[in-house]
Amino acid sequence: MTSPASASDGFEIPRLRMVERLRDHYKIADARVLAAMNTIPRHHFVPDGLRSQAYKDNALPIAAGQTISQPFIVARMTELLELKGSERVLEVGAGSGYQSAILATLARKVYAVERIESLAKSALAKLRAIGLNNVSLRFDDGTNGWPVYAPFDGILVAAGGPEVPKPLLEQLEIGGRLIVPVGVDKKQQDLIRVTRTETGFKQENCGPCAFVPLIGKHGWAEAENS
Ligand code: SAH
Repeated sequence: MTSPASASDGFEIPRLRMVERLRDHYKIADARVLAAMNTIPRHHFVPDGLRSQAYKDNALPIAAGQTISQPFIVARMTELLELKGSERVLEVGAGSGYQSAILATLARKVYAVERIESLAKSALAKLRAIGLNNVSLRFDDGTNGWPVYAPFDGILVAAGGPEVPKPLLEQLEIGGRLIVPVGVDKKQQDLIRVTRTETGFKQENCGPCAFVPLIGKHGWAEAENS
């Protein structure tokens, strides 16, 4: 587990308030997730002009028309993975790199895929700048997964598609968990958790959510992105 030092960065108080809100209002109970959210400097992953808003209770715009997810959804998805520290995790839709940083703090190794090259480059630079070296990040269509490193103990998808991408099911380890927003409406999804068992897959609906579209071979077609 890596712990980037974020002491005395001037955001200790808003960051602690964010964590208290996650614990008390949103009922995030996993102490490791709360500790990671209290460690990673979220302001480092938002555009410079939005730094003062980095610890607020909402998603924020990043480059290329994408968003950094609301802290609650980052915490919730991470909690649903039930990471203990030894896992290899695939992340689809790295965006700003903030969720990757949380995962890298809680798992052994993170393989992150982002379909927009400029975001992938910026996310990787930000992760390296805070000393997180256990993330491999490439730009590609993450609906295909990352077959050479499969199977994964956890897979987290941060964009919403019309169905669970089949390659991701195939790349899940037995006992592993896949968290993915799924919805036929492009702007609204249900957060689905799929657990691979010895004999098949168990699926749970973890409630409504709203993500940017998952665009790719096993997601929405690019032209439909409206
Ligand atoms: N967890 C990120 C969320 C970013 S928004 C954060 O908090 O910053 C979702 C991201 O998914 C966007 O950056 C978008 O470009 C990316 N995305 C959408 N479809 C994708 C695909 N098929 N493969 C990889 N990334 C994808």
